[in-house]
Amino acid sequence: MALMGQMMAMPLLISSLIKHAARHAGDTEIVSKRVEGDLHRTTWAAAERRSRQLAQALARLGLQPGDRVGTLAWNGYRHLEIYYGSSGSGLVCHTINPRLFPEQIAWIANDAQDSVLCFDLNLLPLVEKLAPGLPSIKHFIVMTDRAHMPAQTTLAGLLCYDELLDAEDGRYAWPEFDENTACSLCYTSGTTGHPKGAVYSHRSTLLHTYASALPDALDCSARDVILPVVPMFHVNAWGLPYSCALIGCKLVMPGPFLDGQSLYELFESEGVTFSAGVPTVWLGLLNYVKANNLKFSSFKRTVIGGSACPPAMMKSLQEDYGVEVIHAWGMTELSPIGTLSKLSAKQLQLPKEAQQRLLEKQGKAVFGIDMAIADDAGQALPWDGQVTGNLLVRGHWVIDSYYGEHSSPLQSLDGEPGWFPTGDVASIDDYGFMQITDRSKDVIKSGGEWISSIELENIAMAHPAVFEAAVIACAHPKWDERPLLVVIKKPEAELTREQLLAFFEGRIASWQIPDDVVFVSEIPHTATGKIQKLRLRDQFKSHRLPGL
Ligand code: ADP
Repeated sequence: MALMGQMMAMPLLISSLIKHAARHAGDTEIVSKRVEGDLHRTTWAAAERRSRQLAQALARLGLQPGDRVGTLAWNGYRHLEIYYGSSGSGLVCHTINPRLFPEQIAWIANDAQDSVLCFDLNLLPLVEKLAPGLPSIKHFIVMTDRAHMPAQTTLAGLLCYDELLDAEDGRYAWPEFDENTACSLCYTSGTTGHPKGAVYSHRSTLLHTYASALPDALDCSARDVILPVVPMFHVNAWGLPYSCALIGCKLVMPGPFLDGQSLYELFESEGVTFSAGVPTVWLGLLNYVKANNLKFSSFKRTVIGGSACPPAMMKSLQEDYGVEVIHAWGMTELSPIGTLSKLSAKQLQLPKEAQQRLLEKQGKAVFGIDMAIADDAGQALPWDGQVTGNLLVRGHWVIDSYYGEHSSPLQSLDGEPGWFPTGDVASIDDYGFMQITDRSKDVIKSGGEWISSIELENIAMAHPAVFEAAVIACAHPKWDERPLLVVIKKPEAELTREQLLAFFEGRIASWQIPDDVVFVSEIPHTATGKIQKLRLRDQFKSHRLPGL
């Protein structure tokens, strides 16, 4: 008979994170730029107390374990309290992206059957518009204090967040329950289909939190000042609200103010050392610091993910500003962290260029995630850095099924069931470094060969006159599809189609060079900052390539 371990069986619960932060980093600051217009300062100890008061208030409103607490809010301390007050008390924190179309927000809140909706003050007009179409929501709570309560609103019985908390004494013990209980719910942004809910458990979130804070992952510590630019409604800000509590560091939250100037000023005034965000926000920040000839005085490291980080952006951050870039890949279905580009001692012996090429990839799987590439028949493909295939993953924080769906999205690898097909196409090299070449829907299929849109975009982005670039497939009678390059030039830059195409020569096989370039003033982005390839393809569906 097997001998059982004789260790304490303590469930892995979200409440343990904030309890730990309050006890061991109680006076460490949480700084938030509020939509009310000021900079607010609190501590982990106060945040934990208010999270307990919120748990009491939500119970008083009649919420039962498992009920969904919807949020429409930016990064700030009240949103953080909702993360802990709801999940910690057995409710489910359901963050919704306020930048989605109103119909999408309503669809998601209805699908989730949210009982309560907590929202930031500046989103009142949006919520007033949505409210008649949200029958499951019994209480609307505006995340502000009495002094800022709107004088007039169409929302009957609108509740004031701070007032609800102030009415509670905080004498509340975080309950203990099964670690497999749901803690939070995030919907995929629906870039490639209608949104689907990923239901995280306390256990999956705690394991993700442990793994993501490791030195070879985000490498966060109590010595850092962390500013998540990535919103708390975008896959839980990549887990930072949890990992910052685990390590007990100072946390700075920018509210909705994500333009280059606001971010730069907050980085400098609060001494931010570490940040995380999608490439589009760094474009804005870099543009601002370049245009104003500024330097960062404390900013040392950043995680970039959500879309491929263009090597030119990585280089500029590293060489011009001394900011280390950690390229990461993940997705809603992975809580979200899957891989990160960090070098081992052996890889640090490689020539600088080889190191750089590795860093530009999406990186190695963190412990807890297993990955593979497979052909369309589900047969594993080799890790040679050349062959590309469908990227499959499995692990402690990978979804098993979507919210409300009984059918499984999982597939087999070499006959072994239980792998989640990510929808991404990638190669993996013999170091185990994964590189995304495309989403399977965005890959350009030219004469039976695949061309990576990301690789072409990265080359275009390295041209000094290019601000942003997107490559899409354009129909071609002979080759099926050929790449079309859509570009926004930098302000006042001179650049012709011919100059840009010549820039590709010698950087990629000649048959992969785009057939045409169109200059535009705008490239559509999704609500999470990704280029909307579907819309671009639609916009250019009748584009005639030269020579046709
Ligand atoms: P959605 O799938 O709804 O767009 P996610 O935020 O979950 O929302 O997006 C996950 C997808 O984003 C991945 O499957 C991948 O295609 C893309 N992605 C994330 N990080 C990277 C990266 N570093 N490089 C390239 N693509 C990335």
